[in-house]
Amino acid sequence: AMRIGGGSVVGYSSMLQTLSLARLDMETDLRHALEREELELFYQPQLDLPTGRLSGFEALVRWRRSGRLVSPADFIPIAEESGLIIPIGDWILEEACRQARRWNEPNMHQGLPVTVAVNLSMRQFRKTQFIESIEQSLRRSEVNPTHIELELTESAAMHNPDQVLQLLQRLRGMGLALAIDDFGTGYSSLAYLQRFPLDKLKIDQSFVRELSRGDDAAAKRNAENIVRAMITLGHQLNLRVIAEGVETEEQMHQLVQLGCDAIQGYLYGRPVPAVMAQEFLLRERLS
Ligand code: C2E
Ligand code: CA
Ligand code: CA
Ligand code: CA
Repeated sequence: AMRIGGGSVVGYSSMLQTLSLARLDMETDLRHALEREELELFYQPQLDLPTGRLSGFEALVRWRRSGRLVSPADFIPIAEESGLIIPIGDWILEEACRQARRWNEPNMHQGLPVTVAVNLSMRQFRKTQFIESIEQSLRRSEVNPTHIELELTESAAMHNPDQVLQLLQRLRGMGLALAIDDFGTGYSSLAYLQRFPLDKLKIDQSFVRELSRGDDAAAKRNAENIVRAMITLGHQLNLRVIAEGVETEEQMHQLVQLGCDAIQGYLYGRPVPAVMAQEFLLRERLS
């Protein structure tokens, strides 16, 4: 066995202690985040490629923890492990539904529909009261369910696909739109992909990034082939295909060429607070 010097062992374990204390600290604060109204939804616009119009927004949660923005990548995992994702997820859903209702008022977008996409965590999706809490959000906000799109990651969807299939069928029955998120990063069973009542595939941003590998022509060609295959697969399954993480004009042109239906990314717009997203929406009406 390898011997590790005593000093580094102490150093390592005290570092772990510090890390888990920071974690516990974050969990304690997160417990109060809802009542202190520290959570906020940001909205990132999605661009429909054939029409060049705004088709909707993805809601992305933000936490203002003592004035600083904490990334969801940092606190969603803690919310999941601690179970806090249930009340937080309910809040996110209802807030997104209210916003979708507002943005679909006739004066907002020339009567064109505005979809709001909401991320679901695996834990939230599997809780027994899940369908009831969705029904409650829809009822309380009086949103038209077709204006809400639920995003489930590919890996969550394929985890227990029989159970997921049943849930998705119920959600679809309620009129909601359904998307598979981070497509290409998990392992999809094509049989289930075909059986799931989906509307959209979201190509993960890692593939989009590879499209602009100016340094490596082979890697770039490879990425193009993969993205083309994903788009073809999506279209064969009658799904709309959206690419996320689009940052450059070049990536957008490649995606147009490859037949992608929509894009989302910093090129078209960053996630912004609701008031700014609404300005974006109203501005588009003028153009
Ligand atoms: P995601 O669902 O894959 O969301 C896309 C992430 O990519 C977002 O990060 C977004 O801000 C970022 N992004 C968008 N366009 C670009 C771009 O052009 N370039 C780059 N580099 N990044 C871009 P964000 O907001 O930090 O969220 C991270 C993850 O946290 C999300 O990944 C999602 O898994 C999770 N998350 C965010 N909001 C929620 C939520 O309300 N509920 C749940 N359960 N998870 C959420
Ligand atoms: Ca997402
Ligand atoms: Ca994603
Ligand atoms: Ca992601």
